[in-house]
Amino acid sequence: MISIEEARRIIRSHLRETGSIETNLSDAAGAVLADPVMSDGDYPSGDRSTMDGYVIRADETPGSFRVTGEVPAGAVPDRSLALGEAMRIFTGALIPEGGGRVVMQEETRREGDIVHIDRFQENRFIRPRGSEAKTGDVVLPAGTVLGPAEIAILAQAGAVRPRVVRRPVVRHLATGNELVAPEEMPGPGQIRDTNSSLLAALLKGQGVLLTDSTRVADDPSSLTKIAEGNWDLLLVSGGASVGDYDFGAETLRRLGFTIHFDRVNLRPGKPLTFATRGNQAAFVIPGNPVSHFVCYHVAIRLAVESLAGQPESWNLLTLPFDGGEPVKPDPRDTFWPARVSVRNGGLVVAPVRWSTSGDTFSLAGTNALARVNANSPANGSIQTLLLHPL
Ligand code: AMP
Ligand code: MG
Repeated sequence: MISIEEARRIIRSHLRETGSIETNLSDAAGAVLADPVMSDGDYPSGDRSTMDGYVIRADETPGSFRVTGEVPAGAVPDRSLALGEAMRIFTGALIPEGGGRVVMQEETRREGDIVHIDRFQENRFIRPRGSEAKTGDVVLPAGTVLGPAEIAILAQAGAVRPRVVRRPVVRHLATGNELVAPEEMPGPGQIRDTNSSLLAALLKGQGVLLTDSTRVADDPSSLTKIAEGNWDLLLVSGGASVGDYDFGAETLRRLGFTIHFDRVNLRPGKPLTFATRGNQAAFVIPGNPVSHFVCYHVAIRLAVESLAGQPESWNLLTLPFDGGEPVKPDPRDTFWPARVSVRNGGLVVAPVRWSTSGDTFSLAGTNALARVNANSPANGSIQTLLLHPL
């Protein structure tokens, strides 16, 4: 049986980005830049005022100035400044030729076409041309995750057709004779299919849409059928262990997949299978929803990161306990659902009450996994995996 670290090394070594496509600004949020974005000009494009006030030459001393005109934002100044002259100017407006200092309106007194200025501040309140970016500067390197700030930068640089890593096509197969849709009332022996909704939400949180999700009986032919399609990542729920109805790994092998591992030292989630065939990757995930939650954050999230070109997020912090359920050291590498919160300016962790891996209700409020194993310190702190990238 392999360790989690070894499983992650194997996943990483078999997967790479799925290629790139051009997109537009409204679809770019959450995508990853495939090519760097260069500045298409100098920013700002000319010297600009950072204040509402009066602009004068740089070589002036405080005193009285004759106001010769006005420059609102968006206008091109139509005259230059001589000694003893001032022009009314507004935030963002271009500095007229000869101008070298802006004095804030609050520090001036206006009398007719004369403006009196008693003193200058050190700050000249001018943003020089190209002080933010010059033509050709890389403003966003390849590999950047496009969040709101980066989308604004694309808009400013006029990069309205950014090239991004293609998001993987992910298909899901929920296997189990016992499963019914969440809308249905389960009959005797039946349960609602929780994992389809769970995986769709986990993937969405990572910026990837589940292309297709199907609920099927314990029957290898359904897996055979879906495996023929065009996809990058296949997630199979259930059928991961060695029961009479657990056919996942065996079917994948028959379909020409190479099984890289089918057991991991992980609790919950030990019978996790990872396989690839060409550029396609598949996981068979033990059916319990808490196992799904843990397997996703520990292994599948990394696969999606590798395919989507996202930076790896494996943020393990040692955090002090903040009450919660007592956790006992365990020889198995256990990822215990937990909640991290801010207390007195620092992060603390509280493991949730958790009985079995079938206990979906225990996951409420979970935003972390506390890692409990034979090496767990007994000094009131615990290694904790954050579930959201930083
Ligand atoms: P399996 O891995 O197929 O042996 O399933 C382990 C446990 O998880 C069983 O109790 C299943 O009923 C349950 N299970 C399997 N698939 C799902 C699902 N999609 N939603 C909720 N529970 C499931
Ligand atoms: Mg099953």
